[in-house]
Amino acid sequence: MRLEGETLKVGENQEEGRSSASSTRIPSGTVLECPKCGEQNHRILKGKLVGKKGETVECIVKCSKCGGVRKETLKQEKSVVVRVIVSVEDRSVRKELELLQNDEVVVGDRLIVNGLEVEVSSIESEGKRVQAALAKDIDTLWTKRADKVKVKFSISKGRKTVSKEMYAQPDEEFFVGDMVEIGRMKVTIHKIMCKDKLLRRGSAVASRIVRIYARAIRETWA
Ligand SMILES: [Zn+2]
Repeated sequence: MRLEGETLKVGENQEEGRSSASSTRIPSGTVLECPKCGEQNHRILKGKLVGKKGETVECIVKCSKCGGVRKETLKQEKSVVVRVIVSVEDRSVRKELELLQNDEVVVGDRLIVNGLEVEVSSIESEGKRVQAALAKDIDTLWTKRADKVKVKFSISKGRKTVSKEMYAQPDEEFFVGDMVEIGRMKVTIHKIMCKDKLLRRGSAVASRIVRIYARAIRETWA
């Protein structure tokens, strides 16, 4: 498991010593446990370097799961650059990720690579495939895209209404009139509640949807 609290995932290049462009040394994300939901990936919304060598970051962090925002003080530790292969659908892209040298990565972990949430599917360390390794021992991290969002459905089924949810890519579009399969249920979308309005026709991307109202299709009631 990861250390709680003061581990840091560094998203930007770090320079030694003082730099006038100190903002480039504030990491874009960090790993610590959210007190509300237990999620570990957090984005750093803003931060400032404090201490004589800028070794501490006072920052506002946002939980990547529940969106909770809070203040944290993080210590900067030595980092290493790890090679990351990100699979997106049928393509693979080679990226780099700066991690703290003693940060442990475990298969199944979620990481943010260039702003994209990925899940670690395999770890290559010293020429072998392993379940977990410290960042400094990692040759390559094999990952797949994992930045899915939850889409909630209210489904009328006869006289009852049931709630269901599914996961979708943030930019996946849902259309009024579409048929969607949720688990074993087939439904037709009749309204889409977005963050700013209720759609009775047209479409919306998953990331903007608050709730989809749908009707179960009769053939699957049994
Ligand atoms: Zn949270």
